[in-house]
Parts: sequence; C-alpha cells; structure tokens
Amino acid sequence: MKSRDRSAITSNVILPGQTIGILGGGQLGRMFAIAARRMGYRVHAFDPTPDCPTGQVADLEVNAPYDDVDEAVRFAQSVDVVTFEFENVPSQTLAAIEKIRPVHPSPFVLDTTRHRLKEKDFLSSAGFPVAPYRAVRNTDDLKQAIAELGTPCILKTAEFGYDGKGQSRIDSADQADNAWAKLNCPLGVLEGFVKFDREISVIVARNASGDVRAFDVFENVHVNHILDVTTVTNQRSAGMSVSLREKAIVLARQIAQKINLVGLLCVELFVSGHDVIVNELAPRPHNSGHVTFDACVTSQFEQQLRAVCDLPLGDTTLLRPAAMANLLGDVWIAAGDKPKWDRALRDPSIKLHLYGKIEPKKGRKMGHLTALADSPEEARSRVLAARAALV
Ligand code: AMP
Repeated sequence: MKSRDRSAITSNVILPGQTIGILGGGQLGRMFAIAARRMGYRVHAFDPTPDCPTGQVADLEVNAPYDDVDEAVRFAQSVDVVTFEFENVPSQTLAAIEKIRPVHPSPFVLDTTRHRLKEKDFLSSAGFPVAPYRAVRNTDDLKQAIAELGTPCILKTAEFGYDGKGQSRIDSADQADNAWAKLNCPLGVLEGFVKFDREISVIVARNASGDVRAFDVFENVHVNHILDVTTVTNQRSAGMSVSLREKAIVLARQIAQKINLVGLLCVELFVSGHDVIVNELAPRPHNSGHVTFDACVTSQFEQQLRAVCDLPLGDTTLLRPAAMANLLGDVWIAAGDKPKWDRALRDPSIKLHLYGKIEPKKGRKMGHLTALADSPEEARSRVLAARAALV
C-alpha cells in the first residue's frame, strides 16, 4: 500500500485542549507543564509528595507512591497520553498504564536507559561508541574487570545512580574490596576511565511519525558531579570543531532512531581528541537543556510535548549564544536564606527560573539563571556574575 491511512495517523495526535499526564513532579515536569499549558493543554501530575514543583503549575496533582498501581491506573484514565520526567517509575506501574493509555517514551526505552548495563549493552551492540565496560556481581568479578580495563576506572551502580551518586573511582587494584563494599548493590558496571577534553550533551526529539530534530551541542561543566554551567553557541567556537559537533548530533539522532524513541532523549557524551563517546542517556528533558527555554525558538519542554502528542516538531534554532548556571540550595545557605534576587537581576539579560521548592538543601537543584549574549563567553560570564551577586 503506497499511501498512508491519514485517519490512522491523525487519530494518535493529541491536540490542545486534551490532557497530558506526567509521572514525576520535579522541575523538569514543572517546565514541561508550563510549556504545555501555554499551548492550551491540560496537565495532570503524579508524584508522591504534595505541593511538588510540577503540581504547583498543573491542573491536577495526584499524590501516591509510584508503586500504587491502582492509583496510577486511575490517574491514567483521567489523561490522553502519559509521559514522565522521572525514570524510576516501577515497571509494573508502567505496564498497567500502558494497557490503557499511550506512554511516551515507551517502557522499553525507559527500562533500557535507567539500567546502566542494559543501556551500555544496547549502545555497544548497535555499534555506538561507549567506554569499555564490564558487568560486576562480586569482588572477584571486580578484580578481574580491573585487570582487564586497567586503572583508573570507575565503578557505578547499575541502577538508581544520578549526579555522580553510586559511583567511585578506583586507582589501584587493592581498592577493589573497599569499592565493592561501598557500592552496596547486587549489580555494578566497571567503566574504563575516559580522558575527556570536555563533556557535552545533545538533546534530540522524535515523534511517532518519525520526524527527528536535535538542538545544538551543549557544553557542560560539572562541580562535585552536579551540572554547574552549560553554554551553547551557534558560532564557531575555539574549543570544539564544527565536524565534532556534527558527529555528536548525528550520533544522537541515530540513537533516537535505533531505540525507536517517541519523546525526548538527552545523550551525554565525552569528547576526547577527535572522538565522541556516549556516557549515558536520559529519555526526558535534561538539566543541560534548560537553556533552551529562553535561548531557542522551541524549548526542550515544548519539544517533548510536541513529540509525545505527535505534532510536528518545533524549530530548535538557537536565537543567540547562551549560558545557564544552576542554583543549588548552597546559594540559599551562603546567602543566609535570602538570595539577593534584585542584585542578580540588575543585569537585564538575566532570566531567573525558580522551581517552587520550599526547603533549600546542599546540592538540591532549586532553580537556574540564563543569559543570552553576543558570544558564549560573555553569556557565561554574565550568568556567573549574576549568581555571585546573589550572595
Ligand atoms: P555519570 O553519573 O555516569 O553521568 O557520571 C558523573 C560524572 O563522572 C560524569 O559527568 C564525568 O565527569 C565522570 N565520569 C563518569 N564516567 C566516567 C568515565 N568512564 N571516565 C571518566 N569520567 C567519568
């Protein structure tokens, strides 16, 4: 059959006025809900904690544990499509929801990307570049893996690791017993150490009709394993060649296609010489893409919405070079509880985003600042100056 059945295609399109359900109630869901409501959608949020950042801006907030399958099914019945901003929703909950409503990205994508070993097996068997790795189930495995991969190397938990949590660097074989005991989980992954020049990410979207669009390459600097500053430019930058950027974007697009993504995928990469190596995947909006809210024609949040609703994807063009600096709870602590917002906003190029979290804790992501400028260096120095002015 040559022509496609239009009615079958359009029947999957979720239009403004319909309702999106989002699992997870953090800042990613909050910014998604803002984008969705701006386009006339209704948003229902599911999160165990009342008054969550997403719930504050959603039409409806449902509070229940993620393993409460009955509540999750009731939630799904009230919406037209389900997406998520949090990976660790139990498989049984997703399976029950999937029986009654479309879930995007699919439970298969979620299941693969939230498990480091499955993710690495998927990437390497498809021929995508990853650091050398071994599965580790006990100290003997670990010693064997260290002998094969050499030191330094990094031991990571297979599941529930984020922002550097659940991982440790091993510099010599005699640290194996200690490192395994500290990991405290049944399955780990040992990775060879990548001597990277920089860390980057590419955010790519794909809708059910197969359209794929990627944003420009984000350059990320971490402090204590937590993202600190992202910069993005469409200019030729001294740091990274155009061909390397293109290589990273092509890779992200290929991964989205191979995994049959419907939604948004962040591909975190190491750049080492002329190579790009995939570190990890996140099938949702990503902290490094927050800059798109102010700096791109279409934000990552609107793009997620368009992808899961099977609308045409938006233009990802960067309007100007930009930078984003995270605001952790540490800022509140250093400022004696009241950051000086008026001082940061004296620079009119600064955009402030706060996530509505009440309790500032060390390392907790409370908000971010964005600046657009004529060069990425200028944007970066503006967000850093504004952040410094808060304390
Ligand atoms: P992850 O939680 O896997 O994103 O790791 C957190 C951070 O640890 C990364 O952003 C890197 O800075 C560093 N890291 C992780 N894996 C490796 C590796 N195989 N080689 C070198 N550095 C790594």
